[in-house]
Amino acid sequence: MGYRVAVLDPDPSSPGGRISDRHLINQYDDVAGLEELAKISSAVTTEFENVPADSLRFLSDLLPVSPQAEAVEVAQDRIREKTFLNKNEFRVAPYAVFNDADSISHPRQGLVFPGLLKVSRFGYDGKGQLLVNNVVELKRGFEKFGSVPCVFEQFLPLEAEVSVIIARNQKGDTAVFPVAENQHHNGILDITIAPARVANNIVSEAKQMALSLAEVLQYQGILCVEFFVLSDGSLVINEIAPRPHNSGHYTMEACSVSQFEQQVRVTSGLPLIEPRQHLPAIMINLLGDLWENGEPDWNRILKDDRVRLHLYGKDEARPGRKMGHLTIVDFDLDQAITLSEEIKTLLEQK
Ligand code: AMP
Repeated sequence: MGYRVAVLDPDPSSPGGRISDRHLINQYDDVAGLEELAKISSAVTTEFENVPADSLRFLSDLLPVSPQAEAVEVAQDRIREKTFLNKNEFRVAPYAVFNDADSISHPRQGLVFPGLLKVSRFGYDGKGQLLVNNVVELKRGFEKFGSVPCVFEQFLPLEAEVSVIIARNQKGDTAVFPVAENQHHNGILDITIAPARVANNIVSEAKQMALSLAEVLQYQGILCVEFFVLSDGSLVINEIAPRPHNSGHYTMEACSVSQFEQQVRVTSGLPLIEPRQHLPAIMINLLGDLWENGEPDWNRILKDDRVRLHLYGKDEARPGRKMGHLTIVDFDLDQAITLSEEIKTLLEQK
């Protein structure tokens, strides 16, 4: 869209930094780095929720910043997030907070097992999460995580998982992407199917909840709300992400506007447009496991014009690390699903 882009990221080989016009290699809380970023920029956004909220606050005194520090602060800390959602009457899984060794030594009665113990901060892609079956395992898990603040969440039987991505700008205008269906493996997003194969009332309720959440937060930017769908069709919010989300990558190929373009539009004050999906799509995450015997042979899958490859340019492939993704589009969702299954099998063959 003609903009020049500076990226502040402490990692010298960060994929974003590599393709930007200017890569500021500074820690996220380095004042000199933040001042330089503000000096050379007209507006700032983040697509990583672990940027310290104070850094966003510091920048927002100097130039427009979206999303706002307060919203990122809620999304980056499970305890704050759950407290916020609960207070505003958004349904979440039954949970208990363990802040320190003292609180875990006398867990309250009535915890329902099994459950997931999750570190409150810096957990992602299944990391910092443990399935626990009783109080002994709960305590052991808490110690294993270094006695940092954690949330214990009742394990819910899930019918499906869906997510909604919305864009909301400074004026309060909103635009909602189609509801996507997500399948996880080992706590990591495996595939996204869009549109989600759930009843229409679930689709409208998910969209409505995401919109009202963004309204309560007075949110500016791209917000993803992840939901659990329970067997009675009711929705529970799993978590929120204050940025473009893995479950919205399909929008690049399948929609009239992508989640990334909407982010640019919010950041630069351009009008939002209501996304239209022109093709059903499947997104398959490519994890580092596939690189075990070297880079996969993309020739095998790229002959089909319904397949698009995105690699992020990460230096090192590690098991469980997201290295890229594939988007598969077809006029027919079932055909896209069949093709994605064939491709998965092909890729997993050594
Ligand atoms: P999270 O990092 O919290 O999004 O968790 C990753 C994945 O683990 C989710 O997308 C679910 O598939 C599963 N999960 C997390 N919390 C629960 C829960 N309370 N009950 C059932 N499954 C869960």
